[in-house]
Amino acid sequence: MSCGDMPSMTVTLLDIQRMSTEDGPGLRTTVFFKGCNLRCPWCHNPESIGRKPDLNWLSVKCMGCGICATVCERGVITRDSNGVHFDRPRCIACGHCTDECPQGAIELKGRPIEAETLFRELIKDRAYFGGEGGITLSGGEVMLQGEAVVMLAKLLKEAGIHVAVDTAGCYDFKLLEAMLPYMDMALYDIKIFDPARHLEITGGDNRLILENYRKLRDAGMRLWVRTPVIEGATDSAENIRAIGGFLREAGLPERWELCSFNNLCRDKYTRLDLDWAYKNTGLTEKKHIEELAAIARSCVPGAMYSGTTKE
Ligand code: SF4
Ligand code: SF4
Repeated sequence: MSCGDMPSMTVTLLDIQRMSTEDGPGLRTTVFFKGCNLRCPWCHNPESIGRKPDLNWLSVKCMGCGICATVCERGVITRDSNGVHFDRPRCIACGHCTDECPQGAIELKGRPIEAETLFRELIKDRAYFGGEGGITLSGGEVMLQGEAVVMLAKLLKEAGIHVAVDTAGCYDFKLLEAMLPYMDMALYDIKIFDPARHLEITGGDNRLILENYRKLRDAGMRLWVRTPVIEGATDSAENIRAIGGFLREAGLPERWELCSFNNLCRDKYTRLDLDWAYKNTGLTEKKHIEELAAIARSCVPGAMYSGTTKE
């Protein structure tokens, strides 16, 4: 095999979040990768959707010097009295503007990195994992990172690290099958039960998601299911009852959590020049999520809700 035939062992890393307590058991390091095949309109990580690095402009830091526009050889950047503008599709993520901006007002979100290099970076955190914690591989959709992320999980597992995979499950099971020997658990999103509605709202086929849940369950995988509670999309009693009925029939997860909505990610959309349909949506009402959690508990004992709510 020539070098040109070698599979790429590079992942596209978005961010590393340390000392995380919400992405699996114990204290964890959560690794976010770029690239997702769903388009949930409430997404809290818009910078994780595209596979390519994204330009973030932090208007509060910008002093309007225009240096970025002069160093960009592609002519991506223009500046006027309203600030700096990017012709994003033409950006090749060379990083010249981020290097030259005196204010640090431009960031490139996402970078390719070898799985082994990332492993060496992550392993440094093992000091705080204790008996329960470890690494959570998250997205975007982590399984779209292909063989490289399987290799990363293998290296982590061989080093004795607990590996959780945070996935939406909307892909051919073959991708996940390769990961099974190297993962200890899945954090599994089930958002909308009705297939037509799921397709309409997220752009993805939930029959794959439900089928893959069954396969993980049959493989004896430890499962924590999460359902975001999103006004008008996932938050009907009917939807929660249907997901609960499915979980009972397919095999109960260890835990089912309803996650309340917040709009703390609003600025992320602004920095990417994107409008967000949920920018003015408030927190989930406590009474409403408690009612949904009661329905969830009638199907899955111990089902719970998490996140900040309003009275
Ligand atoms: S170089 Fe930085 S500070 Fe100057 S205009 Fe560009 S973003 Fe703003
Ligand atoms: S990253 Fe490179 S191509 Fe993209 S806007 Fe900056 S200087 Fe231009």
